[in-house]
Amino acid sequence: MATHRTKLLIIGSGPAGYSAAIYGARAMMEPILVQGLQPGGQLTITTDVENYPGFRDVIQGPWLMEEMKAQAEHVGTRMMWDTIVEVELDKGPPFRAIGDSGDEYVADALVIATGAQAKWLGVPGEMELGGKGVSACATCDGFFYRGKKVAVIGGGNTAVEEALYLTNHAEHVTLIHRRDELRAERILQDRLFKHPKISVKWNHVVERFAGDPLAGGLTHLVLRNMEIGADEDFAVDGAFVAIGHAPATELFQGKLELDDGGYVVVEPGTPRTAIPGVFACGDVMDQVYRQAVTAAGTGCMAALDAERYIAGLEVELDGHAEAAE
Ligand code: FAD
Ligand code: NAP
Repeated sequence: MATHRTKLLIIGSGPAGYSAAIYGARAMMEPILVQGLQPGGQLTITTDVENYPGFRDVIQGPWLMEEMKAQAEHVGTRMMWDTIVEVELDKGPPFRAIGDSGDEYVADALVIATGAQAKWLGVPGEMELGGKGVSACATCDGFFYRGKKVAVIGGGNTAVEEALYLTNHAEHVTLIHRRDELRAERILQDRLFKHPKISVKWNHVVERFAGDPLAGGLTHLVLRNMEIGADEDFAVDGAFVAIGHAPATELFQGKLELDDGGYVVVEPGTPRTAIPGVFACGDVMDQVYRQAVTAAGTGCMAALDAERYIAGLEVELDGHAEAAE
């Protein structure tokens, strides 16, 4: 069991964490980044990425994350193969975190970049056909369904926004919802109902995603009509599960302010939490945009704010030292 002392500790290795690390290292904070169970974050479970700026050709998510990691290491970040299981934020600075390995991390400033995971239905075929017709991100994958027939599953704001967005690409969009009314805001519902390319299947749940992952991918959904209890096959080229996201914030419950959805609350327009020296960036504090580029952007902001915070601490310490002389 070792103790690692650093000016800047970053928890999470998605675009937010790696970007914070690049900026933190270049600001001479010699950051330590703890990678967690999914090194590289959510983009490692996708294939084509077409909307990350700087690449004319399609790039692969896992490759992009390897490049970000290499860049963060190159400028001086220390990567730790560990997962944080406990944090102590109320007595800092320094802040303390304990890894699954038993190692302790002690830092003047902390950047939380633990991301969020899309919720899945947990029905047969969903994982096998993931990236082969089944997706949880219309902004990321909608483009691949130009002129095709797609379904969106869910009844909240995300599902309605995804359905509306998909009309830019797909020939037809069917929203499939388990009840007979939506949870989404009225204005979004209004746009949805008026849209000529969208229809709604009420009171239906997905029992199964069907198709061959090795040949052609998703072909249809097996739906259950909850009113009459009968199953039907529903042919689609793509299906978007949009039943919400779960931020990875269990670790911070009772230690940081979280909103009703479990997201870390930050001062609007900044990565600053209510605890000075503790910053949050990326999907863990953003339930609206949830993109790699926005995660990277807020990661940069978190490192810049951490640098200012640490500089302030150093001035304070110098002041105390001078007063003591
Ligand atoms: P994440 O990428 O979620 O990373 C979180 C990190 O935190 C992980 O490394 C995890 O291991 C770590 N972590 C969690 N808990 C702990 C802990 N206790 N200790 C240590 N580490 C921890 N966006 C786009 O812009 N374009 C796309 O094409 C695109 N495609 C996508 C396809 C799919 C299938 C999915 C799921 C998402 C896609 N997105 C896309 C969204 C994008 O991936 C996310 O917005 C982005 O990854 C968020 O970055 P993040 O750094 O905030 O968090
Ligand atoms: P949400 O509001 O929790 O809605 C989830 C939807 O998925 C609900 O309609 C729910 O059905 C359905 N659902 C959940 N589990 C399901 C399951 N196992 N099978 C079938 N359906 C299931 O999630 P969200 O839409 O992602 O929104 C999350 C938060 O972000 C909300 O506060 C929302 O307002 C906010 N948000 C805001 C914007 C915006 O302001 N533009 C955009 C996106 C999200 P029931 O209705 O039956 O429960």
